[in-house]
Parts: sequence; structure tokens; C-alpha cells
Amino acid sequence: EAKRLRNEVALYDPELEADRLSHLSLLSELEAAIAQGQLRQVLQPKRRLRDGRITGAEALVRWQHPLRGWLPPAEFVPFAESTGRIRQITQWMLRRAIATLATWCAQGRDVAIAVNISTLDLQDGQLPARIEALLQAAGVPARLLQLELTETGLMAGSQDPIHVLQSLSRLGVRLAIDDFGTGQSSLAYLQRLPVHELKIDRSFVDGVDRDAKRQALLGSIITLGHGLGLEVTAEGVETEAELAVLHRLGCDLVQGYWVGKPLPLAHFDALLAPALAC
Ligand code: C2E
Ligand code: CA
Ligand code: CA
Ligand code: CA
Repeated sequence: EAKRLRNEVALYDPELEADRLSHLSLLSELEAAIAQGQLRQVLQPKRRLRDGRITGAEALVRWQHPLRGWLPPAEFVPFAESTGRIRQITQWMLRRAIATLATWCAQGRDVAIAVNISTLDLQDGQLPARIEALLQAAGVPARLLQLELTETGLMAGSQDPIHVLQSLSRLGVRLAIDDFGTGQSSLAYLQRLPVHELKIDRSFVDGVDRDAKRQALLGSIITLGHGLGLEVTAEGVETEAELAVLHRLGCDLVQGYWVGKPLPLAHFDALLAPALAC
């Protein structure tokens, strides 16, 4: 019997077998993480340059792994996308974000939260109805929820996500194009989408105060966004000098370590203006 088994095992490539086993164990760990509450949501502030107010936050996922500690999304989001588990993560992020929005609304705070949405989520025709149900149950106005979609994510699916995007937009949810300038999408395609905001990838912001060509490029992207009637956010602002350039170029919103790092809710709350008495 042992010999027969050995022969069968020998048909497998041991390296592939090891890959398959580690894939399976990561998958079951990820499922446990989702089911057992090991995911965390951190919030990174977005500042409006016109008046300096924190008008919103981007929600970013973390995995509080029981053995490996605090894991960044780069270590599990791509895997979750390739195994379909990203849908549960998105659903969890939406629930958390909407619960926080409900608390802020009750405190009279007008602050929005943006959640990252993957290709696979956009292939799900039920997404708009599920978001509508979550917003209604929490009594949160749709305009306070934003969804960030990457150009690559928009183009990668087997179906054109335009109908899902239109339903979301009709709900009143705000849509943003994330990592703008790094993807493959054509401007003609973007112009058809019901989006409200353009988020300029941080590669265009890095060192912009020291490079005239980069400044010209950044200025053109901001003008393009405004020309299309979109609000423009710059990502990855790390220095006061970069911020000054963005101010001068008329960028609407900034996000980055200079404004604030991603923080757990309790610490993020401390950045907000004192709540209005209701
Ligand atoms: P992203 O959507 O472009 O998010 C911004 C990333 O840049 C975050 O990394 C943030 O911590 C980082 N960042 C912010 N300001 C600065 C800065 O000034 N300098 C630098 N160098 N980095 C800055 P994070 O949290 O590690 O997330 C990485 C990516 O993982 C995100 O990129 C997004 O694509 C993905 N991701 C994060 N959370 C989720 C999620 O809940 N769902 C999905 N589908 N993807 C997520
Ligand atoms: Ca994002
Ligand atoms: Ca981004
Ligand atoms: Ca930099």
C-alpha cells in the first residue's frame, strides 16, 4: 500500500504540490480571517485645499494575523482577488465604513469614506442593491460613500462594468478613478463613465517640486480632470513642498503621509473638528 501511494505521489511535481498546499493553507487562513474578525480598517485623511478641512478618508484593509502580525494589503489582497475572496473583504469593508459614517452622521459630521473596489466586485450585478440596502439600514446618505476603481480594474473584467457603475451613480454614491495615469484605459472610455473624482497616482506627485517636466504633467492632469467636471485628488503627498505645488496648480484634495497616515478609527476621530452639537 505504501509503495502504491509513493508511486502516485511521484506523479506530482513536489514543488507544485508544495505550492498547492501553501495555497490551500493561505486560503483557509484567509477564510478564517474574514469569519473570525481578523480584518481591520484604517482610515487615511483627505484634506480639501480650498479651506484646509478634512472632508473625507480612504478606508484601507489590514489583516491582524494571529501569528504573523499586522499584514499590509499587498500580502493578501492580490491572493484574495485571484481566489474570489475579495468579495467578502469588500463587503466587510463596506459594512465597517457605513457603520462609521452612521456614527459621524449622528454626531453631525459631514465626512465621507472611500472604499476600494476590485474588478470582481464590478462583475457582480447585485453590488448596487447590496450597497443600497446597507446605506438604508444605517440611514446614511449615499453621497457620503465613495468607491475607488482603478483603470486596470475597470478594463480587466469579462463584462463591461458600465451598467453597475450607472446604477451606483444613480444611487448617489460617488465614484473615483484610482491610480489615475498608470492604467491602460483610454480617455474616450473614461469620458463615458459616470465618475466624480480623479485620484492622481503618487508617482506623478513624488518630487514634483524639483522637476519642471513633472510639474507640467501634473498641471495637465489637473486641468484635464477639471475639464471633465471632476474633483481632483493627489495621492502620496509626502512633503510641504509637494503640497505647495499642488496648491498652486489648483488641485482640490490631497492625501498622503504629509496630511496623515492611515489610522484606526479612534485616532482618526481625533483629527476631525469637534463634533457639532446636534
Ligand atoms: P491605493 O488604493 O492606491 O491606496 C493608497 C496606498 O498608498 C495605501 O497603501 C497607503 O497607505 C499608501 N500611501 C498613502 N499615502 C502615502 C504616501 O504619502 N507615501 C507612500 N509611499 N504611500 C502612501 P496600502 O494601505 O498598503 O494599500 C495598498 C493597496 O492595496 C491600495 O492602494 C489598494 O490598491 C489595495 N487595497 C487596500 N485596501 C483595500 C481594500 O479594502 N480592498 C481592495 N480591493 N484593495 C485594497
Ligand atoms: Ca485607493
Ligand atoms: Ca491609489
Ligand atoms: Ca516622495
